[in-house]
Amino acid sequence: MGQPVHPATYLDPEAAVESRTEDLLSRMILPEKVGQLLMLDAQHGDLVDIVSTKLAGSVLHVTPERMPEAVERAQRTRLGIPLLTVDDCIHGHSFWPGATIFPTQLGMACTWDPSLIHRVARASAIEISTTGIHGTFSPVLCITRDLRWGRINETFGEDPFLIGELGAAMVRGYQGEGLGDPTAVLAYAKHFAGYSETLGGRDASEADLSPRKLRSWFLPPFEQAVRAGCRGFMLGYQSIDGVPITANQWLINDVLKGEWGFTGTLVTDWDNVGRMVYDQRTCADYAEASAVAVNSGNDLIMATPQFFEGAQEAVARGLVDEKQIDDAVRRVLRLKFELGLFEDPRAPDPERQAQVIGCRQHADLNLETARRSLVLLRNEGILPLDGGLSSNGTGRAASQGTPRTIAVIGPNADSPQAMLGDWAGATGQVPWMPDGHPRETVETVLDGLRAVVPADWTITHARGADIASPASMGEWSVGPDGQPQPPVFIPAPVDQVQLREATAAAEAADYAVVVVGDAIALTGELRSTATLDLQGGQIALLDAVAATGTPVIVVLVQSKPSTLPESALNAAALIEAFNPGMCGGRAIAELLLGLVEPSGRLPVSFARHVGQQPVFYNQVRGQHGSRYADLTQDPLFAFGEGLTYTTVTYSDLVVHDPDVSADGTVDATVRLTNSGSRPARETVQAYISDLTTSVTWAEQELKGFTQVEIPPGESLEVNVSIPASRCSLVTADNRRVVEPGEFALRVGPSSRREQQLSAGFRIRV
Ligand code: BGC
Repeated sequence: MGQPVHPATYLDPEAAVESRTEDLLSRMILPEKVGQLLMLDAQHGDLVDIVSTKLAGSVLHVTPERMPEAVERAQRTRLGIPLLTVDDCIHGHSFWPGATIFPTQLGMACTWDPSLIHRVARASAIEISTTGIHGTFSPVLCITRDLRWGRINETFGEDPFLIGELGAAMVRGYQGEGLGDPTAVLAYAKHFAGYSETLGGRDASEADLSPRKLRSWFLPPFEQAVRAGCRGFMLGYQSIDGVPITANQWLINDVLKGEWGFTGTLVTDWDNVGRMVYDQRTCADYAEASAVAVNSGNDLIMATPQFFEGAQEAVARGLVDEKQIDDAVRRVLRLKFELGLFEDPRAPDPERQAQVIGCRQHADLNLETARRSLVLLRNEGILPLDGGLSSNGTGRAASQGTPRTIAVIGPNADSPQAMLGDWAGATGQVPWMPDGHPRETVETVLDGLRAVVPADWTITHARGADIASPASMGEWSVGPDGQPQPPVFIPAPVDQVQLREATAAAEAADYAVVVVGDAIALTGELRSTATLDLQGGQIALLDAVAATGTPVIVVLVQSKPSTLPESALNAAALIEAFNPGMCGGRAIAELLLGLVEPSGRLPVSFARHVGQQPVFYNQVRGQHGSRYADLTQDPLFAFGEGLTYTTVTYSDLVVHDPDVSADGTVDATVRLTNSGSRPARETVQAYISDLTTSVTWAEQELKGFTQVEIPPGESLEVNVSIPASRCSLVTADNRRVVEPGEFALRVGPSSRREQQLSAGFRIRV
């Protein structure tokens, strides 16, 4: 009889994670270790090279069909270390045909509702976790600053506090009860940190940021994500003060891992290691760049296959100590043990997919989110149409009074891709969904109105204008990092035939709903814009429809705030719908007819002109004057704004004890009265102004918000409670402190001063 065979410790599920990690590490040779640090792009499918030759421990962009093979190949490597698979599921499972695609993050942010965002992330995780994917590169915690940047749609807007609250909720939603939960999806919050401070809106340019500016506004949402238990972070692309983010030891080691105690894994952005060689040119070759990345505390190296040889050469040349590589490998292995992948590689599960992907429950949540994401920006009394209809119980409005005709006009009126926005199939990031999500899964505004208007109403449609000229769809090139690069956008010319059709439709209708905005060609990475104007024939279309005299409701289906022509600004109503997702069209139709109430609030300010950039509300005070010689600096629409179909007034703001200790709470109440005839969901916003500060600081900052429902004709008292610790600033020597002294609490429906009530309080030493 032979000796009983004991499985290796690392294969023993009963052994502690630390012992399993050390045991496995001790069995690994250098190429295997380096392989564990590679996260390679699998979209073009050479899994043999990726998993079996380069021994990559993780992959992104695996086609749904090849996922089972990827999982299995990893199991067949010498030590059978399971694969970690991650993708960009940033508002739903982007690249899974028919998965639930929610509004973009900017749209979600308009809900100002962390608990709703938590539910969205949970639903996404439930879908993602059935498809063999273990992690998502989400949420985006970048702060919107310059609206020309192409990635505004991916953010939660311009305010660090709102971003922090929504981001933490999203992280908790993805990660569920913890990574061991089979429906948990690891969150890689991004892009750490400061990537959105672009110069002139140019993507991935040198970000002009001091450590103090980072600590003041850019870092707090990330710190909050760490506190919410976020187990992963992705770096950005930018450099700061001459240091590529991949080499920024201060941010990675001192702040993230040191001060905040982060123990999870870090992933670089796409080919950051290569970019230090051929773009930023701070490294002479891949061995140097690989050493810099590892020595600076990075773990997973995304989309740089050259790291495989580069890191091994770096060890041979003495540029990096193997112990340093071991540290990163330990973190990656620990993560795989935490996810339980050695016991269950979480391979795709077709049975669960059939149950949960795009299921009814998720569609209902999506519709709720889309409704709440819409922001009513102007209403000259025309909405809700015909004074508001009621539902007939089947989702359609009941017939009442005179049957109406609505002309639904505009290039985004029937565009499924405009509803979904970026990171949703046909958006250029992966090749396997050239036509995007199945058409029947997306309701455009035209679909929504057809489905929801009373049965005796008539819907007509005319496109009216195009956004991009077909020449914009020309050949894409491939960048040095292997990423596809779109050609320069060419706007469509004004088309007189389309215009005539549109004006004829408007003339024959009771109402014209004109749906304009932008397109994928103007959204995302490598697609920052020089202007914020509506492109192609859209301004001519708005002008022509306005001239018909038919009441016009403008719906903006777009990825970020546009600047608007007079014809849109003077329309009877204006609604913002930042790429509102698969149910967006129905939600917009319901809002127009008054089947639901408008409740969204802007998480971002709108500019009147591109030259006002940046126009965010919490600018540092002390400017000489408050206007340009030729234009006001007042935003077109300010952070926090959004109308309802009723009238809510604020009164009686009282701070109960205006003498607050530094570890105490500012407790106040405010009275809200709904004097209109429709219900309101009101977002009560609380801003703090520190009256005298040792350094120049923002005039006011959002520090709390709460949502309340107020039935028509009712009045209620709302509690506002702000911990004094939030009334802080960052000193000249980079410390976040509360400076005792006089403050103002400003409460109101938006960041506009004229809409806020103010009450003073003092924080004592
Ligand atoms: C983007 C990231 C994204 C990654 C993977 C990069 O180009 O900047 O946000 O997660 O690609 O697709």
